[in-house]
Order: sequence, then C-alpha cells, then structure tokens
Amino acid sequence: MIIAVASGKGGTGKTTVAVNLAISLENVQLLDCDVEEPNSNLFLNLKLERVGDASIPVPVIDPEKCTHCGICSKICEYNAIASIPGKTMVFRELCHGCGLCQMACPEGAISEEEEVIGVIEKGSNNIEFLRGLLNIGETMSTPLIKKLKERVDKEKTVILDVPPGAACPVIEALSGVDYCILVTEPTPFGLYDLKIAVELCRDMKIPFGVIINRDNIGNHETREFCNQENIPILLRIPQDRRIAELYSNGIPFVNEMPEWKERFREIFEIIKNEKL
Ligand code: SF4
Ligand code: SF4
Repeated sequence: MIIAVASGKGGTGKTTVAVNLAISLENVQLLDCDVEEPNSNLFLNLKLERVGDASIPVPVIDPEKCTHCGICSKICEYNAIASIPGKTMVFRELCHGCGLCQMACPEGAISEEEEVIGVIEKGSNNIEFLRGLLNIGETMSTPLIKKLKERVDKEKTVILDVPPGAACPVIEALSGVDYCILVTEPTPFGLYDLKIAVELCRDMKIPFGVIINRDNIGNHETREFCNQENIPILLRIPQDRRIAELYSNGIPFVNEMPEWKERFREIFEIIKNEKL
C-alpha cells in the first residue's frame, strides 16, 4: 500500500507526519519525494549512499544539418528552443526532455544528450529510506520524482513525503498512490491551501483524510470545512511544547512520546479499512 503525505503549503508539518508515521509502522519504506528540499533524513539521521541518478534527454543541434527552418521552435511548448536566421539555440534550463523537437526536425539535425538532474540516495535502519536530491540550480524535479518512485517496494508499506503545493511535481508524486494524508494547520492560509489540495485529490480520485497540526492555534474553520465536506480528520496534533522541542532537536516525537505511535497505528488501520 502506498500512502502519500502531502500539504497544500510548506511548513505545515508534512515531513514530521511522514517520518513519525513511518517509525510507528512495521515493514516500511519511506521515500522523500520533496526533491528540492528533502529533509526527512534530518529526523532519521541515516548514513546515505548514492544508488542512482536521474537524467533528461536534452536536444543538441547539429549546425551542419540545421537549416534554421524554425519547426522545432514552433513545436516546443516550453519555449526551450529558438531559431533565428543563422542560429538555432536550446535553452537547457527550460527543456523538459520530451523529445518532440527531435521527432519534428525534417533535417535530422537534433540528437539528444542525457543530462543528470539529480541523484537518488538510500539508507536504512528499521525503515528503508530513499530520497531524491535535485542538483542545485535544476528546475525539473518531476523526472527525478518519477525515477525515485520506480524504487517503490510493493512488499512494504510505502510512505511518500510529497513536495508542498499542487503543481506538476505533486501530481507526479501522487500518481498511483492508494491514499493521501493532507497535513494542514488551522489558519486561514492553511485552509486556503488545504482546499486546493482537496480539489487535487478529488480530481485525481485519490481517497484522502486530513491531519491538523498545531491544532490549538488559529480557528475552527478547518474543522468546520472538513465536517461540511465529509472529509475525515484522521488526527489532531496539538501545538505542544514537548513536541516542538523534540522537533527542533531533530527527534521524531513518537520516539519519546510512545503514546503517539499508537495513534499513528490507528490512522493506518483506518486507512487500510477504507481501502478494503
Ligand atoms: S527543426 Fe531542425 S532544421 Fe529546423 S531549425 Fe530546428 S533543428 Fe534546425
Ligand atoms: S525536448 Fe521538448 S522541451 Fe526540450 S526543447 Fe525539445 S520540444 Fe522543447
């Protein structure tokens, strides 16, 4: 079973939930798909080794063959290739590696060169942990997330720490998951972003529930919204000094407050039952 832990905005406690849930369960694989800023390992403190990388095919123009007809430039949805009289240029940082320009070139003037965009690293103790790490300055996180997800082990309970937001990398991370936990905080900003994330899960037909983090700050509107929309609130984590202290020391709070392990296990049972 693959469970995604997502949030409409950053800083809601998504990684905290993903890590604490992973530690609370047996036979778990945790994948940090937040490849621009993978910080789950700050809590796990595992020694990581590089196990692979991800690349995209970037077009290379053969100036001997190119007639500067402009077909490639017209066909590229991302404005990553431009042709002017006497010169055809590739803007590598805009290229999505879709290969369309190569197919369209009537002169066979385009070849492809693999360009590494990031690495995949692995470490383990009780949990098998993998993360994608996007190269500095790289913008194409989606192919790296896809590559990371090829390592999903279906014999385990798989937990994905999804990037924040609702853009393409989130859609890539969510595709094929069995359930999504949306982590939010009870503030107007949190609610606004939660609504976007809810819409995304509904569009992608992914069953989902909500965890409210820092529950005793803000207002009741998030709970009211969930009740009106029949969205299960799986757990409410209070703004608690002890939890905050453990967090700031990089310690998963279930390790020091074992009663929370039981609560995360209960969530897992709820999710499993929903999928039966
Ligand atoms: S389609 Fe081919 S020939 Fe035409 S500008 Fe592009 S690379 Fe050059
Ligand atoms: S590979 Fe795709 S995105 Fe990149 S330049 Fe060609 S058409 Fe554009």
